[in-house]
Amino acid sequence: MGTLELDDVTKVFPDGDGEIVAVDGVDVEMRDGEFLVVVGPSGCGKSTTLRMVAGLERVTSGEIRLDGAVVNDVKPQHRNIAMVFQSYALYPHMTVRENMAFGLEESTDLPDDEIEARVADAADTMGIGELLDRKPSDLSGGQRQRVALGRAIVRDPAVFLMDEPLSNLDAKLRSEMRTELQRLQDELDVTTMYVTHDQTEAMTMGDRIAILDAGELQQVATPLECYHEPANRFVAGFIGDPSMNFFDVERDGDTLVGDAFEYPLSKSTLDDVGGATDLVLGVRPEDISPTDAGAGAHAFRTVVEVVEPMGDENTVYLRFEDAPDGETFIATIDGLERLAAGDTVTVEVPETTVHLFDGRSGEAVHNRDLTD
Ligand code: ATP
Repeated sequence: MGTLELDDVTKVFPDGDGEIVAVDGVDVEMRDGEFLVVVGPSGCGKSTTLRMVAGLERVTSGEIRLDGAVVNDVKPQHRNIAMVFQSYALYPHMTVRENMAFGLEESTDLPDDEIEARVADAADTMGIGELLDRKPSDLSGGQRQRVALGRAIVRDPAVFLMDEPLSNLDAKLRSEMRTELQRLQDELDVTTMYVTHDQTEAMTMGDRIAILDAGELQQVATPLECYHEPANRFVAGFIGDPSMNFFDVERDGDTLVGDAFEYPLSKSTLDDVGGATDLVLGVRPEDISPTDAGAGAHAFRTVVEVVEPMGDENTVYLRFEDAPDGETFIATIDGLERLAAGDTVTVEVPETTVHLFDGRSGEAVHNRDLTD
């Protein structure tokens, strides 16, 4: 079993004469076996959250509960939690076998033969059986990461905490280890809280994603919910690469009026908007596509500023033809489409794909239609 609850958890650090609120009233409930990815910009409180769950940092207020029991005052070694760090944190003078056995020797009364069996088992799971007698300095980065994971598995914890465990690996190895971690999660089914900067890891690994900004939780939801139904403009801009385009607009009756375009809304979208007039229109780059039909209510003449060919698709920077000094926005367009800087292209932005945010609070007032 391993349910993990964070109930109004706050962490305040002293900072000279003032203080820094690193984590601000975070509420999360993780079910047994769930994989939760915690993302957010640098300094938003991800590591501090993880360190409080591990017991490496004291909670200023709020409660952390493991399987229903409050663990705020429980020492790290008695929390039944294993942590994997970005730096691996292996002991250089110990062999892989000794590194893996160390935690069990320190925190349990297990007999030697049981410890040996567990180490062999975990080494088998991680495919590092032949490395057991080597020292960390004789291993590649990927092998060290496997050992760090093996050392966590061997403890058979209720919860894994992982702080950017793949960020020291090169892109190819990172993608291999991502798959490996997913396999491991399927096999072991251990509740896991996983901190990362990486969009791909957040979207592909998590059962749910928790997005933090300035210590405050913005949304906890499945990756696709965060992508298609963001709670606010921050989440909408953070999840997705390239990011969602945002346009400041005023609602005038049933039409959004931007600096360089007008965009009429249907009754059902207007119903979501209610009385708000100060809005932000959000459009994902993949929802902007060239059309031969000519300019219309939701189709606009634009000029291509820059084309970045990615092979399967082009990342295209556009600006409205009527606003030569206006800001560019991004469209991802089929890689076979031939576009070059200076071309004029009419693009369509279907109303079913647009998002609208309150201009002041940033809260989502309308998200894309997912029915078609
Ligand atoms: P990154 O992605 O850069 O690792 P993060 O989201 O993990 O960032 P934290 O390391 O949790 O962020 O830090 C959150 C805030 O708390 C930051 O403003 C940081 O400077 C501050 N902070 C963290 N640890 C301490 C500390 N021991 N003393 C004072 N301030 C701290």
